[in-house]
Amino acid sequence: MILPPATLGMLGGGQLGRFFVSAAHEMGYKVWVLDPDANSPAGLIADRHLVAAYDDFTALDEMAASCAAVTTEFENVPAGTLDYLAKFVTVHPSAAAVSVCQNRIAEKRFLADNGIAHGPFAAIECEDDIRATDDGLYPAVLKVARFGYDGKGQARVASRDEALHAFHQFHNEACVLEKLLTLDFEVSVVLARDEQGAVRCFPPGENRHRNGILDVTIAPARASSAQRDLAQTMACRIAEALSYVGTLGVEFFVSRGELLVNEMAPRPHNSGHHTIDACVTSQYEQQVRALCGLPLGEPRQHSPAVMVNLLGDIWHGEDRRHEPDWSTLHAVPGLRLHLYGKHQARAGRKMGHFVVIGEQAPEVLERAMAARAAIG
Ligand code: ADP
Ligand code: MG
Repeated sequence: MILPPATLGMLGGGQLGRFFVSAAHEMGYKVWVLDPDANSPAGLIADRHLVAAYDDFTALDEMAASCAAVTTEFENVPAGTLDYLAKFVTVHPSAAAVSVCQNRIAEKRFLADNGIAHGPFAAIECEDDIRATDDGLYPAVLKVARFGYDGKGQARVASRDEALHAFHQFHNEACVLEKLLTLDFEVSVVLARDEQGAVRCFPPGENRHRNGILDVTIAPARASSAQRDLAQTMACRIAEALSYVGTLGVEFFVSRGELLVNEMAPRPHNSGHHTIDACVTSQYEQQVRALCGLPLGEPRQHSPAVMVNLLGDIWHGEDRRHEPDWSTLHAVPGLRLHLYGKHQARAGRKMGHFVVIGEQAPEVLERAMAARAAIG
């Protein structure tokens, strides 16, 4: 077991990393963050911020010399970086697991190879792959295989011609072409798995998106108990098949009553933010525990919760310099506001979120939606 006051390393300085730093600090650890952005949310509160690229070997050597274990909050960290660090220190999750989750083609093939339900798709490496697609795949969504997030690098296409056009717009980069599914709703499962293979799942959350970006998570999800159990079982199978160690997020579509895996995130997940406020152990504390070889914590959710993302769109004025009136939110009973300390608000940029908890799920949702309407 790695125990305090050991130093832990975090690759990536976004809000997910920032919550990891907070959890680790509360538990008595020190944290070094590597992120090229001098103002990264996690870097601002880290014990040391290495402002360097993810493949800067001088910085990686420094991290390896000072940190007992290293993890990531960012699926696009180069696999070579994780492999390199793993020669010197404990690294979780592994480069192999992260490589599957960071490439949509590898991810879909992994699901197919392991018999895990997912939607119809075709891997697109060249124009001929599009010409060879079935009529039944359309209408479809073309997604770049790498570096897409928050709906970026995606185009809806009605036909092969439109798919070819979108492929050119994406500079003929490798893509997946997915059938556009009719969604009943979306759910996600966040879990943690330790080195011995013990798994603890949080209750599934129900996710609503706006413009391809997660907007609201309702936890627990208003799915049937059979659907919730199945989602957890499928997420556990994925973690096992990846020999995953750490916190993992699995996104699902529920389409005509059927659960299909959409994608996996080899890190804590936006839909698990409420675990800080509404669960015995948060997804970030689980990440610390799994990384350090501590027993996993109790994931039980003690209160119904609703999480609302706050995007830069609600900042006002020239260059969005003016903060919304936070006092409105602080007045709402059971509401906790989390802001990430990002220096510049931009439309579509995740700047913070709030979580409302309470006794009764319908009333919590109502209070959260009223708070969201009041803040913009
Ligand atoms: P990201 O990496 O941006 O989260 P996703 O693949 O999860 O990318 O897509 C974002 C959202 O777009 C999904 O949560 C869902 O709402 C919608 N979406 C993506 N793919 C499909 C699809 N094949 N059918 C219907 N909706 C989709
Ligand atoms: Mg997604």
